Amino acid sequence: MKIFPPQIWRLKEELYSIVFGKCEDCGEIMYPYRPVCRKCGSMRVIKVKSKGYGTLIRYTISYQHREGYEKLSPMIVGSVLLDEGIEIAAPISADPEEVRKGMRLQAALRKYYVDSSNGLIVYGIKFRPADQD
Ligand SMILES: [Zn+2]
Repeated sequence: MKIFPPQIWRLKEELYSIVFGKCEDCGEIMYPYRPVCRKCGSMRVIKVKSKGYGTLIRYTISYQHREGYEKLSPMIVGSVLLDEGIEIAAPISADPEEVRKGMRLQAALRKYYVDSSNGLIVYGIKFRPADQD
């Protein structure tokens, strides 16, 4: 996959953190962020950065992979309910034997792929089991 550094730079906030919108007039939460409230039309929508913790509510494990992506198999993709009340779909970085509904997860920056033409690496958000405290 070809990587365009200016595009990655422009999207860095969305790629490297979880940012959602919160309407200051009606309280509506929107993910992804949008500048106008979808509920009341207000333009007083602020950007809020998620703390990155959530609970796995469903997932699937894929044992199929594209040629050249053997290292990524098996791949786990799940729906994570963030503590802020937003549900997002994301790759899950966990042992397929240990993954289960209801497990606590935290967002982490992980390598997504490398551009074979110039060696640039694209990073993105994945979820991994949350640290126990
Ligand atoms: Zn609103």
